[in-house]
Amino acid sequence: MTNHEQDSQVYQCEPSTSGSWQTITGRQSEVGGITVSRTLPTRNRRMIGPWVFLDHLGPVRFSAGQQGLQVGPHPHTCLQTFTWMLQGQIRHRDSLGSDQILRPGEVNLMTAGWGIAHTEESVPAKHAIDLESLQLWLAMPASQAAAAPDFQHYAQLPVLLQHGWQGQVLLGEFSGQQAPGQAYTPTVAVDWQLPASSTGVLPLNPAFEYGVYVISGRVQLDHQPLAARTLGYLPPGQQQVELQALEESRVLLLGGAPFSEPVTLWWNYVGHSKAYISAAQADWERGSGRFGEIPNPVAEPMAGPPVPWAPQK
Ligand code: MN
Repeated sequence: MTNHEQDSQVYQCEPSTSGSWQTITGRQSEVGGITVSRTLPTRNRRMIGPWVFLDHLGPVRFSAGQQGLQVGPHPHTCLQTFTWMLQGQIRHRDSLGSDQILRPGEVNLMTAGWGIAHTEESVPAKHAIDLESLQLWLAMPASQAAAAPDFQHYAQLPVLLQHGWQGQVLLGEFSGQQAPGQAYTPTVAVDWQLPASSTGVLPLNPAFEYGVYVISGRVQLDHQPLAARTLGYLPPGQQQVELQALEESRVLLLGGAPFSEPVTLWWNYVGHSKAYISAAQADWERGSGRFGEIPNPVAEPMAGPPVPWAPQK
């Protein structure tokens, strides 16, 4: 997915040095009639481990024959896009030649490194379709800023059963189960489906900070209420957390070692300097070949807003 913000703020993401419990409420916006709720980055919380971006798209119902989602070619650098479908299907195409339909229960992990471009579009259907997904970005360390781009699709992910809860390990390792995707700093993501009135304790890595994002339902996290579309932040140092589902709920547990380098996020780029991002945008604008091309894209390439800082020498 893409950052549609026309004002496209610059976020300086500093490594976490200390922290306390936070509740982050998503900023709701509408993009082409689709509700998008963004909980990262926000003013008070820029990163959780390497995770710098969390958008919840939909749910939205497209009637039969409607075009649906059509996101034209746009660039990314120095980040990994991580897409988790909740309902419906999205077709991903990128400048490496990948062409992949993503369904619920599967992960697309695209590594931008030095640069990649991609498109995302609804899959045509003869009936109405509900579309809902989570789109996350992981910052890549400076050592990977010039890495070759890559795209991976994972249809098989480890399943966990704990406290009568079903979990799916989407990235990293949880309770001895290792997901296949590769991140560049220690991290974890687990999707949990919680029956109503269930309670359990999840083991945590005290070296990690965590976010618990409520996809749907209503939970209590260590006795703190957390509504749908909010993110609870847990600082490093916790051995475990108690999670109670007040109704049938679905949550995404995100975590990682606090990122050790400051990063800058602007539009669809992550970088370790403004000069790197300015150069990336200049390369995209003049079609330098850095990002490659996607034949017959679903929509026009996105130009992107002007870089909001003065040129740097
Ligand atoms: Mn994108």
